[in-house]
Amino acid sequence: MQEIAYINSTFITLDRAFVPINDRGYLFADGIYEVIVTRNGKPFLIKEHLERLKRSADAILLQLPSSLSGFSKIIERGIKEAGFRETMVYIQITRGVEPRRHNYSADLKANLTMTFREHPEYEPQLTLKGVSIITVPEIRWSRCDIKSIALLPNIMMKQRAVEKGYQEALFVTEEGLIREGTATNIFFIKDKVIHTPPADQHILNGITRTYILQQATLHGIEHIERECTLDETLKADEVFITSSTVDLLPVIKIDETTIANSRPGPLSKAIKEFFPKH
Ligand code: PLP
Repeated sequence: MQEIAYINSTFITLDRAFVPINDRGYLFADGIYEVIVTRNGKPFLIKEHLERLKRSADAILLQLPSSLSGFSKIIERGIKEAGFRETMVYIQITRGVEPRRHNYSADLKANLTMTFREHPEYEPQLTLKGVSIITVPEIRWSRCDIKSIALLPNIMMKQRAVEKGYQEALFVTEEGLIREGTATNIFFIKDKVIHTPPADQHILNGITRTYILQQATLHGIEHIERECTLDETLKADEVFITSSTVDLLPVIKIDETTIANSRPGPLSKAIKEFFPKH
């Protein structure tokens, strides 16, 4: 078992993988990414992740360096070569390498790199105990639907949360609307109905988010995608956040307000069971 990277069309150990100083990802964060984790050794919801990668590429007018089935083959081979029980696959595609200049050459070749590391990185007790989140001002741009590697606001706010002893930060607009976490989508439950902000340009439409809404439909749980206020989130019966790396984490505190008596609620626990076991 070892952490490996896919770079220049070959697999090498992670510590030997370097990118050129003129990579536009390094210079400008001019690129996109995906994170896929395995369940029982198989990449979970890989088709959905690769389709989103294509949408992100199209949105920034970047030509993917491989077909989606080509990506699948590289991912499956990398998972095998790394040899972990469960793997976290990080895929990054930047616009390419050329001397620093804001505009880029029309024939620039995109630079594909991947890393294969052990999953999970989250402690399982967080799912049992729940997490605390802080609210932070929405300072991001208006194309948060693109999975861009430019994540400075997310990094700044996540760091603020961690330094205060919280696990995540939730972006809230000046009007008091909740958007999403720095690396998670948010849901709340009121009177057994799931509420979550709509998948528009203000949030990343999480693959986990979509999976949960589909599972909710299958299990007959009512759900609404609509603008949600912080005020109603604070008064919800249950709140949870989701992402590919954490699945679902119940939220038990937002800033100083306790949620659901500081204990993960029954519907959050039931929804967590919709995920196949690792
Ligand atoms: N929102 C943001 C800003 C994210 O960065 C992520 C994941 O990285 C998510 C939501 C959750 O997306 P997914 O469920 O596809 O992992």
